[in-house]
Amino acid sequence: MRLHVLGTAAGGGVPQWNCACPGCAGARAVPSRRRLHASVAVETEPGRVYLVNATPDIAEQIERCPWLHPEGRRTRLSGVILTDAELDHTLGLARLREADELEVMATDAVRDAVHKGLGLGEVLAPYTRLRWRDFDGVALEPLSGKRPRYARDACDGDWVSALRVGGLLYAPSTGVWTDGFGEDADLVLVDGTFWDDEEPRTAGFSTKSATGMGHLPVLATRDRLAALSARCLYTHLNNTNPLVDPDSPLHEELADRGLGVAAEGAVLTW
Ligand SMILES: [Zn+2]
Repeated sequence: MRLHVLGTAAGGGVPQWNCACPGCAGARAVPSRRRLHASVAVETEPGRVYLVNATPDIAEQIERCPWLHPEGRRTRLSGVILTDAELDHTLGLARLREADELEVMATDAVRDAVHKGLGLGEVLAPYTRLRWRDFDGVALEPLSGKRPRYARDACDGDWVSALRVGGLLYAPSTGVWTDGFGEDADLVLVDGTFWDDEEPRTAGFSTKSATGMGHLPVLATRDRLAALSARCLYTHLNNTNPLVDPDSPLHEELADRGLGVAAEGAVLTW
């Protein structure tokens, strides 16, 4: 099976529209450093391709993926899989309103947030239908109960999951290291939002730590990932993460452990 990396940035992308930090300024100056919101297209079997998370960049991401270019007036997108209900992983559903209907797979908590929190089922009803379907050939492994800010009063549930497709584990938000994480995987794409735990505070945009925001920092996961037999790549980089600079010496620290950052446009197999 194979996937196409369509984006590797955390919420806001790189550059973020209202920011001129070194990572954003660098991406404005050098277009090859730009990153779209984290997403992958996964081919679960020949002819069945799912987008994993519906980002604000979803239309551009479909254009960048030849597997998803339409034939005649028919899309080749089989559906959308949501690993959580964060805005940067769900708002793209509205961008696909031209579809006759959209197949979506998500946990109950995420489905309820899309309907009740975002109101997307009702808003989209005059345009398209969200058809929630059972998992078929894929699984969502629960990671944490961290819910989006807009749904903070919602019930407990499986809010954040990792997608499992055969030997692939796709976990763009890893707030806790669960027992056995990635141990029987062949390919792991994992949360690289922040390099260190204090980054949100030192960058000045939050009073929380990275872990407090639901993202284990690279410094907390790199040695655990290096111990896995799987090929492991980071994705979902925030604009404050020094790894957004391809010339950062921190890339060598990852390479020394057999790790790296997923490249946008890469096709990976497992
Ligand atoms: Zn920035």
